[in-house]
Amino acid sequence: MTSFKTSHIEISKNALQHNLNFLRNFIHDNVIISSVVKGNAYGHGIDLFTPLAEECGIDHFSVFSADEALHVYESTGNQNTIMIMGYADNHELEWAIENDIEFFVFELSRLEKSIELAKKLKKKAKVHIEIETGMNRTGFHFKKLPKVIEILKKNSDYISFSGLCTHYAGAESIANYYRIKKQRANYQKALKKMEEGGLSPALKHTACSAAALRYPKTQMDMARLGIVQYGFFPNKEVLIEYLTKKKVTENPLKRLITWKSKVMDVKPVKTGEFIGYGTSFLANSDMKIAVIPVGYSNGFSRSLSNSGRVLINGQRVSVIGIVNMNMITVDISQVEDVKKGDEVVLIGKQGDLEIGVSSFSEISNQVNYEMLTRLPSDIPRIVVD
Ligand SMILES: *Cc1c(COP(=O)(O)O)cnc(C)c1O
Repeated sequence: MTSFKTSHIEISKNALQHNLNFLRNFIHDNVIISSVVKGNAYGHGIDLFTPLAEECGIDHFSVFSADEALHVYESTGNQNTIMIMGYADNHELEWAIENDIEFFVFELSRLEKSIELAKKLKKKAKVHIEIETGMNRTGFHFKKLPKVIEILKKNSDYISFSGLCTHYAGAESIANYYRIKKQRANYQKALKKMEEGGLSPALKHTACSAAALRYPKTQMDMARLGIVQYGFFPNKEVLIEYLTKKKVTENPLKRLITWKSKVMDVKPVKTGEFIGYGTSFLANSDMKIAVIPVGYSNGFSRSLSNSGRVLINGQRVSVIGIVNMNMITVDISQVEDVKKGDEVVLIGKQGDLEIGVSSFSEISNQVNYEMLTRLPSDIPRIVVD
């Protein structure tokens, strides 16, 4: 593949297999693991990631939009289950039904449209009824359920009740404990209502990574796992709780992603000079700097100005001055022999040192989810080991 990009991303297949093995062990037997690959597979590259996950034993994928479903479908073929958890307009729903793509239904007009399309296509729509349990985003309110039940029963030739689901509003934080508890109770209430109405979903599913780890009972028939498969705990709180509970000290997950660029220019700067735009960095002594061709348009947040770190020649060096659109400058005064073309690690290991996504995103005030998904999709991604 020809690429003239100024940085590239490496994805470790071994790390993915390691994480999935860990998760398979942790998640109860017979619980399906759905690999959540929205947001360009959390920045890992959906087209590259999904076949890799498939090779590692995944056969169920969750996405946000029909567009992402199409990506999974085209990169892995039609042998996997693909589930749209969010947006799909009417003609996308038609494509979904035609191709056995499953989808969340959270309002009556989508339910009615699904039936209409299923009749037209002479094919059942595989729907997951989403319940509003307290997040106040998408989902049917409890009082709408009698109507939903009536429609599902009347149209059982056109609708398959593939799932009953909900999503928790922040299971990663103990501060939300009561809200999550209430959501779990509301889900059970909705399930009971459906069952009293004579309906039973093929799959009951509510858990994201944090819920699956913190509240194992939420795993039910399927866990929709995003961040953990990429090697990150949803936040530090969940990691610390896990380590404490298991009485271990080592993070059981491995990062898949490494992000690399190279040195574009090296030059000396005299004492008393400002470096970069404006006056945010003043050289207090004679310095040596390196210019790296990666900036905020490439996913290196502007909030890392004068605070980010990268690795060069096995040493950790600081970003100095403002992060530009396409460049950063770093202080290499203490690093020997840096020259044009040398490897620069923005995320990942070099020698004995490592820049993790969490340190990266803590400095820049982004959660790891945001930092990862902001990595532009046009950075070339390659699989290693
Ligand atoms: C993103 C998402 C998940 C996965 O969340 P993680 O915290 O990454 O595991 C699960 N369910 C829904 C509805 C989501 O939107």
